[in-house]
Amino acid sequence: MTLKLYNTLTKKKEDFVPIKKGEVGIYGCGPTIYDFIHIGNIRAYVFYDLLRRVLDYNKLKTKFIINLTDVDDKTIRDSQKEETPLGEFTKTFEEGFLFDIKKMNIKDPSVICKATEHIEEMVNLIKILLKKGIAYKAEDGIYFSIDKFKDYGKLSKIDLSQLRKNASKRVINDEYDKDSANDFALWKFWDEKDGDVFWETELGKGRPGWHIECSAMSSKYLGNQFDIHMGGEDLIFPHHENEIAQSEAALDVNPWVKVWMHNGWLLVDNKKMSKSKGNFYRLKDIVEKGFSPIDLRYFYLTKNYRQSFNFTLKNLDASKTALKRLKNKIQEFKDDKKINKEYLSEFEDAINDDLNIPTALQVLWKLVRDEKAEGKIKTIKKMDKIFGLDLLKIEKVEINKDVQDLIDKRDVARKEKDWAKSDELRDKIIELGYEVADTPEGTTVKKK
Ligand code: AMP
Ligand code: ZN
Repeated sequence: MTLKLYNTLTKKKEDFVPIKKGEVGIYGCGPTIYDFIHIGNIRAYVFYDLLRRVLDYNKLKTKFIINLTDVDDKTIRDSQKEETPLGEFTKTFEEGFLFDIKKMNIKDPSVICKATEHIEEMVNLIKILLKKGIAYKAEDGIYFSIDKFKDYGKLSKIDLSQLRKNASKRVINDEYDKDSANDFALWKFWDEKDGDVFWETELGKGRPGWHIECSAMSSKYLGNQFDIHMGGEDLIFPHHENEIAQSEAALDVNPWVKVWMHNGWLLVDNKKMSKSKGNFYRLKDIVEKGFSPIDLRYFYLTKNYRQSFNFTLKNLDASKTALKRLKNKIQEFKDDKKINKEYLSEFEDAINDDLNIPTALQVLWKLVRDEKAEGKIKTIKKMDKIFGLDLLKIEKVEINKDVQDLIDKRDVARKEKDWAKSDELRDKIIELGYEVADTPEGTTVKKK
Protein backbone atom coordinates (compact mmCIF):
# COMPACT_ATOMS: atom_id res chain seq x y z
CA MET A 1 0.00 0.00 0.00
CA THR A 2 1.29 3.45 -0.84
CA LEU A 3 1.72 5.83 2.03
CA LYS A 4 -1.28 8.06 2.63
CA LEU A 5 -1.13 11.14 4.85
CA TYR A 6 -3.84 13.49 6.02
CA ASN A 7 -3.11 17.01 4.82
CA THR A 8 -4.59 19.87 6.84
CA LEU A 9 -4.25 22.08 3.78
CA THR A 10 -6.59 20.00 1.60
CA LYS A 11 -8.48 18.33 4.47
CA LYS A 12 -7.93 15.02 2.73
CA LYS A 13 -5.94 11.85 3.08
CA GLU A 14 -3.63 11.92 0.08
CA ASP A 15 -1.08 9.60 -1.51
CA PHE A 16 2.26 10.91 -0.40
CA VAL A 17 4.63 11.78 -3.25
CA PRO A 18 7.87 13.48 -2.22
CA ILE A 19 8.98 16.57 -4.12
CA LYS A 20 12.35 14.97 -4.79
CA LYS A 21 12.24 11.26 -5.51
CA GLY A 22 13.36 9.15 -2.57
CA GLU A 23 13.91 12.08 -0.21
CA VAL A 24 11.69 13.84 2.28
CA GLY A 25 12.19 17.08 4.16
CA ILE A 26 10.14 17.44 7.32
CA TYR A 27 10.00 20.27 9.81
CA GLY A 28 8.34 20.23 13.21
CA CYS A 29 7.76 23.22 15.46
CA GLY A 30 9.76 22.60 18.58
CA PRO A 31 9.49 23.95 22.09
CA THR A 32 9.73 27.49 23.30
CA ILE A 33 12.49 27.00 25.82
CA TYR A 34 11.24 29.20 28.63
CA ASP A 35 10.35 26.22 30.81
CA PHE A 36 10.69 22.44 30.90
CA ILE A 37 8.42 20.64 28.45
CA HIS A 38 5.41 18.67 29.65
CA ILE A 39 3.96 15.41 28.40
CA GLY A 40 1.47 17.28 26.18
CA ASN A 41 4.42 18.71 24.24
CA ILE A 42 6.03 15.29 24.25
CA ARG A 43 2.97 13.88 22.54
CA ALA A 44 3.71 16.19 19.61
CA TYR A 45 7.35 15.12 19.45
CA VAL A 46 6.44 11.44 19.57
CA PHE A 47 4.07 12.10 16.67
CA TYR A 48 6.93 13.75 14.71
CA ASP A 49 9.10 10.74 15.49
CA LEU A 50 6.45 8.26 14.35
CA LEU A 51 6.02 10.07 11.06
CA ARG A 52 9.76 10.11 10.55
CA ARG A 53 10.02 6.40 11.32
CA VAL A 54 7.18 5.59 8.90
CA LEU A 55 8.93 7.56 6.15
CA ASP A 56 12.20 5.78 6.92
CA TYR A 57 10.37 2.46 6.85
CA ASN A 58 9.16 3.33 3.35
CA LYS A 59 12.81 3.65 2.34
CA LEU A 60 12.68 7.41 1.98
CA LYS A 61 15.69 9.40 3.02
CA THR A 62 14.36 11.76 5.67
CA LYS A 63 15.77 15.06 6.77
CA PHE A 64 14.01 15.98 9.99
CA ILE A 65 14.40 19.49 11.37
CA ILE A 66 13.12 20.70 14.70
CA ASN A 67 13.59 24.19 16.05
CA LEU A 68 14.03 25.69 19.47
CA THR A 69 12.36 29.02 20.06
CA ASP A 70 15.03 30.61 22.21
CA VAL A 71 13.97 34.22 21.70
CA ASP A 72 10.39 35.45 21.85
CA ASP A 73 8.11 37.36 24.21
CA LYS A 74 7.98 34.54 26.78
CA THR A 75 11.68 33.71 26.93
CA ILE A 76 12.58 37.38 27.32
CA ARG A 77 9.89 37.98 29.95
CA ASP A 78 10.90 35.00 32.09
CA SER A 79 14.66 35.38 31.76
CA GLN A 80 14.23 38.89 33.09
CA LYS A 81 12.13 37.67 35.98
CA GLU A 82 14.96 35.28 36.81
CA GLU A 83 17.54 38.02 36.22
CA THR A 84 19.48 35.62 34.03
CA PRO A 85 20.94 36.37 30.59
CA LEU A 86 18.68 34.96 27.88
CA GLY A 87 21.15 32.38 26.55
CA GLU A 88 21.93 31.04 29.99
CA PHE A 89 18.25 30.97 30.90
CA THR A 90 17.15 29.00 27.83
CA LYS A 91 20.10 26.57 28.03
CA THR A 92 18.57 24.76 31.03
CA PHE A 93 15.35 24.07 29.14
CA GLU A 94 17.16 23.14 25.97
CA GLU A 95 19.05 20.49 27.91
CA GLY A 96 15.84 19.32 29.56
CA PHE A 97 14.19 18.95 26.16
CA LEU A 98 17.09 16.96 24.71
CA PHE A 99 17.14 14.71 27.75
CA ASP A 100 13.41 14.00 27.57
CA ILE A 101 13.27 13.24 23.85
CA LYS A 102 16.16 10.79 24.21
CA LYS A 103 14.38 9.01 27.04
CA MET A 104 11.27 8.76 24.86
CA ASN A 105 13.23 6.89 22.16
CA ILE A 106 12.73 9.78 19.76
CA LYS A 107 15.36 9.38 17.08
CA ASP A 108 17.86 12.21 16.85
CA PRO A 109 16.57 14.91 14.49
CA SER A 110 18.89 15.69 11.57
CA VAL A 111 19.14 19.30 12.73
CA ILE A 112 18.00 21.02 15.91
CA CYS A 113 18.15 24.73 15.17
CA LYS A 114 17.89 27.76 17.39
CA ALA A 115 16.27 31.02 16.43
CA THR A 116 19.08 33.16 17.86
CA GLU A 117 21.52 31.52 15.47
CA HIS A 118 19.46 32.38 12.37
CA ILE A 119 18.83 36.10 12.68
CA GLU A 120 20.52 36.82 9.36
CA GLU A 121 18.17 34.46 7.47
CA MET A 122 15.17 36.13 9.12
CA VAL A 123 16.43 39.61 8.25
CA ASN A 124 16.86 38.54 4.62
CA LEU A 125 13.29 37.30 4.37
CA ILE A 126 11.93 40.47 5.94
CA LYS A 127 13.99 42.60 3.55
CA ILE A 128 12.39 40.81 0.59
CA LEU A 129 8.91 41.36 2.05
CA LEU A 130 9.64 45.07 2.56
CA LYS A 131 10.92 45.42 -0.98
CA LYS A 132 7.78 43.81 -2.34
CA GLY A 133 5.60 46.16 -0.33
CA ILE A 134 4.03 43.28 1.61
CA ALA A 135 5.70 44.29 4.84
CA TYR A 136 5.63 47.82 6.23
CA LYS A 137 7.32 49.79 8.94
CA ALA A 138 5.35 51.08 11.92
CA GLU A 139 6.65 52.96 14.94
CA ASP A 140 7.28 49.82 17.00
CA GLY A 141 8.27 47.31 14.37
CA ILE A 142 7.95 45.86 10.90
CA TYR A 143 4.66 44.15 10.12
CA PHE A 144 3.25 41.74 7.57
CA SER A 145 0.21 43.16 5.82
CA ILE A 146 -2.17 40.21 5.58
CA ASP A 147 -4.37 42.03 3.07
CA LYS A 148 -1.48 41.90 0.62
CA PHE A 149 -1.40 38.10 0.64
CA LYS A 150 -4.44 36.82 -1.20
CA ASP A 151 -4.26 33.27 0.15
CA TYR A 152 -4.26 34.34 3.79
CA GLY A 153 -6.37 31.82 5.71
CA LYS A 154 -6.00 28.92 3.28
CA LEU A 155 -4.64 26.50 5.88
CA SER A 156 -6.98 27.28 8.75
CA LYS A 157 -10.01 28.05 6.53
CA ILE A 158 -10.86 30.99 8.74
CA ASP A 159 -13.63 33.38 7.83
CA LEU A 160 -11.22 36.19 7.17
CA SER A 161 -13.74 39.00 6.81
CA GLN A 162 -15.31 38.06 10.15
CA LEU A 163 -11.96 37.74 11.92
CA ARG A 164 -10.84 41.02 10.40
CA LYS A 165 -13.80 42.72 12.07
CA ASN A 166 -12.54 41.59 15.48
CA ALA A 167 -9.02 42.66 14.83
CA SER A 168 -6.92 45.62 15.64
CA LYS A 169 -4.91 46.68 12.62
CA ARG A 170 -1.80 45.00 13.91
CA VAL A 171 -0.43 43.15 16.91
CA ILE A 172 3.06 43.25 18.29
CA ASN A 173 2.63 40.16 20.48
CA ASP A 174 3.83 36.80 19.20
CA GLU A 175 0.65 35.13 20.37
CA TYR A 176 -2.73 36.72 19.90
CA ASP A 177 -6.41 36.05 20.11
CA LYS A 178 -7.50 33.29 17.73
CA ASP A 179 -10.73 35.20 17.05
CA SER A 180 -8.91 37.92 15.20
CA ALA A 181 -6.76 38.18 12.09
CA ASN A 182 -4.15 40.89 12.37
CA ASP A 183 -1.09 42.22 10.69
CA PHE A 184 1.62 40.54 12.71
CA ALA A 185 5.13 41.55 13.72
CA LEU A 186 8.08 40.36 11.67
CA TRP A 187 10.64 42.48 13.46
CA LYS A 188 10.18 44.28 16.77
CA PHE A 189 12.15 47.42 17.38
CA TRP A 190 14.02 47.42 20.63
CA ASP A 191 12.36 48.96 23.63
CA GLU A 192 13.37 49.03 27.27
CA LYS A 193 11.41 45.90 28.10
CA ASP A 194 13.76 43.89 25.90
CA GLY A 195 16.78 44.81 28.05
CA ASP A 196 19.95 43.47 26.49
CA VAL A 197 18.14 41.27 23.96
CA PHE A 198 18.54 42.86 20.54
CA TRP A 199 20.40 42.61 17.26
CA GLU A 200 21.73 45.58 15.35
CA THR A 201 20.67 44.82 11.78
CA GLU A 202 19.79 46.56 8.53
CA LEU A 203 16.21 46.55 9.78
CA GLY A 204 17.19 48.50 12.86
CA LYS A 205 17.95 47.50 16.42
CA GLY A 206 15.50 44.86 17.54
CA ARG A 207 14.52 41.22 17.50
CA PRO A 208 12.47 38.87 15.33
CA GLY A 209 8.81 37.99 15.76
CA TRP A 210 8.10 34.35 16.51
CA HIS A 211 6.50 33.40 13.18
CA ILE A 212 9.39 34.50 10.97
CA GLU A 213 11.72 32.23 12.94
CA CYS A 214 10.13 29.04 11.61
CA SER A 215 9.83 30.37 8.04
CA ALA A 216 13.51 31.24 7.94
CA MET A 217 14.88 28.12 9.62
CA SER A 218 12.79 25.56 7.77
CA SER A 219 13.67 26.90 4.34
CA LYS A 220 17.32 27.27 5.24
CA TYR A 221 17.61 23.53 5.88
CA LEU A 222 14.94 22.15 3.56
CA GLY A 223 14.89 24.53 0.60
CA ASN A 224 12.31 26.99 -0.73
CA GLN A 225 9.74 24.21 -1.05
CA PHE A 226 9.59 21.18 1.14
CA ASP A 227 7.45 18.15 1.87
CA ILE A 228 5.95 18.14 5.34
CA HIS A 229 5.48 20.65 8.15
CA MET A 230 4.20 19.42 11.51
CA GLY A 231 2.92 20.85 14.73
CA GLY A 232 0.17 20.63 17.29
CA GLU A 233 -3.33 21.70 16.25
CA ASP A 234 -3.07 25.00 18.13
CA LEU A 235 -0.39 26.16 15.74
CA ILE A 236 -2.59 26.04 12.62
CA PHE A 237 -3.80 29.57 13.26
CA PRO A 238 -2.15 31.97 13.42
CA HIS A 239 1.38 30.52 13.57
CA HIS A 240 1.34 28.23 10.54
CA GLU A 241 -0.94 30.53 8.58
CA ASN A 242 1.60 33.29 9.15
CA GLU A 243 4.49 31.06 8.19
CA ILE A 244 2.78 30.28 4.87
CA ALA A 245 2.05 33.96 4.21
CA GLN A 246 5.65 35.02 4.89
CA SER A 247 7.29 32.23 2.93
CA GLU A 248 5.01 32.11 -0.10
CA ALA A 249 5.06 35.89 -0.43
CA ALA A 250 8.81 36.19 -0.02
CA LEU A 251 9.96 33.12 -1.95
CA ASP A 252 7.37 33.22 -4.76
CA VAL A 253 6.39 29.62 -4.23
CA ASN A 254 3.01 27.98 -4.01
CA PRO A 255 2.69 25.78 -2.13
CA TRP A 256 5.67 26.43 0.12
CA VAL A 257 4.95 23.20 1.98
CA LYS A 258 3.14 20.32 0.34
CA VAL A 259 1.67 18.55 3.35
CA TRP A 260 0.70 20.06 6.70
CA MET A 261 0.18 17.60 9.54
CA HIS A 262 -1.13 18.36 13.00
CA ASN A 263 -1.49 16.31 16.14
CA GLY A 264 -4.45 16.48 18.49
CA TRP A 265 -4.33 17.36 22.17
CA LEU A 266 -3.32 15.52 25.18
CA LEU A 267 -6.15 16.55 27.49
CA VAL A 268 -6.78 16.56 31.20
CA ASP A 269 -10.46 16.45 32.14
CA ASN A 270 -11.23 17.31 28.53
CA LYS A 271 -9.08 20.43 28.63
CA LYS A 272 -5.80 20.87 26.78
CA MET A 273 -2.84 20.06 28.96
CA SER A 274 -0.92 23.29 29.07
CA LYS A 275 1.46 25.24 31.14
CA SER A 276 -0.88 28.16 31.53
CA LYS A 277 -3.67 25.98 32.96
CA GLY A 278 -1.26 24.31 35.37
CA ASN A 279 -2.81 20.90 34.57
CA PHE A 280 0.38 19.25 33.35
CA TYR A 281 2.79 16.51 34.22
CA ARG A 282 6.39 16.45 33.18
CA LEU A 283 8.24 13.29 32.24
CA LYS A 284 10.10 13.34 35.52
CA ASP A 285 6.79 13.51 37.44
CA ILE A 286 5.50 10.33 35.87
CA VAL A 287 8.87 8.60 36.31
CA GLU A 288 8.68 9.47 40.00
CA LYS A 289 5.30 7.75 40.03
CA GLY A 290 6.91 4.53 38.81
CA PHE A 291 6.35 4.72 35.06
CA SER A 292 9.06 4.49 32.45
CA PRO A 293 9.22 6.88 29.48
CA ILE A 294 8.51 3.86 27.28
CA ASP A 295 5.27 3.17 29.18
CA LEU A 296 4.29 6.70 28.19
CA ARG A 297 5.33 6.06 24.61
CA TYR A 298 3.11 2.98 24.52
CA PHE A 299 0.27 5.07 25.93
CA TYR A 300 0.58 7.57 23.04
CA LEU A 301 0.67 4.74 20.50
CA THR A 302 -2.73 3.48 21.58
CA LYS A 303 -4.37 6.57 20.09
CA ASN A 304 -4.32 8.02 16.61
CA TYR A 305 -2.14 11.10 16.36
CA ARG A 306 -5.04 13.27 15.19
CA GLN A 307 -7.28 12.31 18.05
CA SER A 308 -7.38 14.38 21.23
CA PHE A 309 -7.65 12.28 24.34
CA ASN A 310 -7.51 12.46 28.09
CA PHE A 311 -4.48 11.65 30.11
CA THR A 312 -5.04 9.84 33.39
CA LEU A 313 -2.60 7.95 35.55
CA LYS A 314 -5.04 5.05 35.43
CA ASN A 315 -4.81 4.87 31.64
CA LEU A 316 -1.07 5.18 31.80
CA ASP A 317 -1.02 2.33 34.27
CA ALA A 318 -3.07 0.20 31.86
CA SER A 319 -0.44 0.92 29.19
CA LYS A 320 2.35 -0.02 31.55
CA THR A 321 0.67 -3.35 32.29
CA ALA A 322 0.00 -4.04 28.61
CA LEU A 323 3.59 -3.30 27.66
CA LYS A 324 4.92 -5.52 30.41
CA ARG A 325 2.66 -8.35 29.34
CA LEU A 326 3.71 -7.90 25.74
CA LYS A 327 7.41 -7.98 26.56
CA ASN A 328 7.03 -11.00 28.83
CA LYS A 329 5.34 -12.92 26.06
CA ILE A 330 7.95 -11.88 23.52
CA GLN A 331 10.73 -13.12 25.80
CA GLU A 332 9.31 -16.63 25.50
CA PHE A 333 9.64 -16.75 21.70
CA LYS A 334 12.49 -18.47 19.87
CA ASP A 335 13.96 -16.86 16.78
CA ASP A 336 13.24 -19.14 13.81
CA LYS A 337 14.90 -16.55 11.53
CA LYS A 338 11.75 -16.23 9.46
CA ILE A 339 9.58 -13.24 8.64
CA ASN A 340 5.83 -13.52 8.89
CA LYS A 341 4.83 -11.81 5.66
CA GLU A 342 1.10 -11.92 6.32
CA TYR A 343 1.25 -10.07 9.61
CA LEU A 344 3.92 -7.73 8.36
CA SER A 345 1.83 -6.69 5.39
CA GLU A 346 -1.19 -6.07 7.61
CA PHE A 347 1.05 -3.96 9.83
CA GLU A 348 2.40 -2.01 6.85
CA ASP A 349 -1.11 -1.26 5.61
CA ALA A 350 -1.90 0.21 9.01
CA ILE A 351 1.15 2.43 9.36
CA ASN A 352 0.82 3.62 5.76
CA ASP A 353 -2.80 4.54 6.32
CA ASP A 354 -2.00 7.97 7.74
CA LEU A 355 -0.01 6.46 10.62
CA ASN A 356 -2.69 4.22 12.02
CA ILE A 357 -0.46 3.12 14.86
CA PRO A 358 -3.27 1.84 17.16
CA THR A 359 -4.25 -0.68 14.47
CA ALA A 360 -0.59 -1.56 13.88
CA LEU A 361 -0.33 -2.25 17.61
CA GLN A 362 -3.34 -4.56 17.41
CA VAL A 363 -1.64 -6.46 14.59
CA LEU A 364 1.38 -6.91 16.83
CA TRP A 365 -0.81 -8.27 19.63
CA LYS A 366 -2.54 -10.63 17.21
CA LEU A 367 0.83 -11.98 16.09
CA VAL A 368 2.02 -12.38 19.65
CA ARG A 369 -1.11 -14.30 20.61
CA ASP A 370 -1.14 -16.50 17.49
CA GLU A 371 0.30 -19.77 18.71
CA LYS A 372 0.79 -21.14 15.23
CA ALA A 373 2.42 -18.08 13.67
CA GLU A 374 5.99 -18.37 12.45
CA GLY A 375 8.64 -15.69 12.28
CA LYS A 376 7.60 -13.89 15.42
CA ILE A 377 10.93 -12.50 16.54
CA LYS A 378 12.13 -11.14 13.19
CA THR A 379 8.69 -9.68 12.40
CA ILE A 380 8.39 -8.02 15.79
CA LYS A 381 11.86 -6.58 15.35
CA LYS A 382 10.74 -4.95 12.10
CA MET A 383 7.55 -3.62 13.67
CA ASP A 384 9.49 -2.15 16.56
CA LYS A 385 11.37 0.05 14.09
CA ILE A 386 8.14 2.07 14.10
CA PHE A 387 6.93 1.57 17.65
CA GLY A 388 10.31 2.24 19.27
CA LEU A 389 9.26 0.29 22.37
CA ASP A 390 12.47 -1.75 22.82
CA LEU A 391 10.33 -4.86 22.52
CA LEU A 392 13.28 -7.21 22.25
CA LYS A 393 15.38 -5.64 24.95
CA ILE A 394 15.53 -7.80 28.03
CA GLU A 395 14.62 -5.82 31.09
CA LYS A 396 16.82 -5.85 34.09
CA VAL A 397 14.60 -6.91 36.98
CA GLU A 398 14.04 -4.24 39.53
CA ILE A 399 15.06 -5.68 42.85
CA ASN A 400 14.35 -4.17 46.20
CA LYS A 401 17.02 -3.83 48.82
CA ASP A 402 15.96 -6.86 50.90
CA VAL A 403 16.20 -9.19 47.94
CA GLN A 404 19.52 -7.67 46.89
CA ASP A 405 20.87 -8.30 50.41
CA LEU A 406 19.84 -11.96 50.17
CA ILE A 407 21.49 -12.25 46.76
CA ASP A 408 24.73 -10.74 48.08
CA LYS A 409 24.73 -13.03 51.13
CA ARG A 410 24.09 -16.04 48.93
CA ASP A 411 26.99 -15.15 46.65
CA VAL A 412 29.26 -14.96 49.70
CA ALA A 413 27.98 -18.33 50.98
CA ARG A 414 28.64 -19.92 47.61
CA LYS A 415 32.15 -18.51 47.47
CA GLU A 416 32.72 -20.05 50.88
CA LYS A 417 31.17 -23.29 49.61
CA ASP A 418 28.58 -23.16 52.38
CA TRP A 419 25.95 -25.02 50.36
CA ALA A 420 23.44 -25.39 53.16
CA LYS A 421 23.41 -21.64 53.73
CA SER A 422 23.26 -20.99 50.00
CA ASP A 423 20.17 -23.22 49.64
CA GLU A 424 18.49 -21.63 52.59
CA LEU A 425 19.01 -18.17 51.10
CA ARG A 426 17.78 -19.39 47.76
CA ASP A 427 14.50 -20.55 49.34
CA LYS A 428 14.06 -17.17 50.98
CA ILE A 429 14.45 -15.39 47.65
CA ILE A 430 11.95 -17.77 46.03
CA GLU A 431 9.49 -17.08 48.83
CA LEU A 432 9.66 -13.39 47.90
CA GLY A 433 8.44 -14.22 44.41
CA TYR A 434 11.57 -14.66 42.32
CA GLU A 435 13.09 -17.43 40.25
CA VAL A 436 16.74 -17.99 41.06
CA ALA A 437 19.47 -19.06 38.68
CA ASP A 438 23.19 -19.61 39.15
CA THR A 439 25.39 -18.03 36.51
CA PRO A 440 29.15 -17.48 36.27
CA GLU A 441 28.44 -13.90 37.45
CA GLY A 442 26.69 -15.19 40.56
CA THR A 443 23.04 -15.38 41.55
CA THR A 444 20.55 -13.88 39.09
CA VAL A 445 16.86 -13.54 39.73
CA LYS A 446 13.76 -13.14 37.59
CA LYS A 447 10.32 -12.13 38.83
CA LYS A 448 7.96 -15.10 38.80
P1 AMP B 1 4.90 25.16 22.77
O1 AMP B 1 6.17 25.02 23.55
O2 AMP B 1 3.71 25.50 23.59
O3 AMP B 1 5.08 26.08 21.57
O4 AMP B 1 4.54 23.72 22.17
C1 AMP B 1 5.44 22.89 21.47
C2 AMP B 1 4.68 21.86 20.68
O5 AMP B 1 3.87 21.03 21.54
C3 AMP B 1 3.69 22.45 19.66
O6 AMP B 1 3.71 21.68 18.47
C4 AMP B 1 2.37 22.36 20.38
O7 AMP B 1 1.30 22.36 19.50
C5 AMP B 1 2.51 21.02 21.11
N1 AMP B 1 1.61 20.90 22.28
C6 AMP B 1 1.50 21.77 23.32
N2 AMP B 1 0.59 21.32 24.23
C7 AMP B 1 0.11 20.13 23.75
C8 AMP B 1 -0.87 19.18 24.23
N3 AMP B 1 -1.50 19.33 25.38
N4 AMP B 1 -1.10 18.08 23.47
C9 AMP B 1 -0.44 17.89 22.30
N5 AMP B 1 0.47 18.75 21.80
C10 AMP B 1 0.76 19.87 22.50
ZN1 ZN C 1 6.92 27.07 14.37
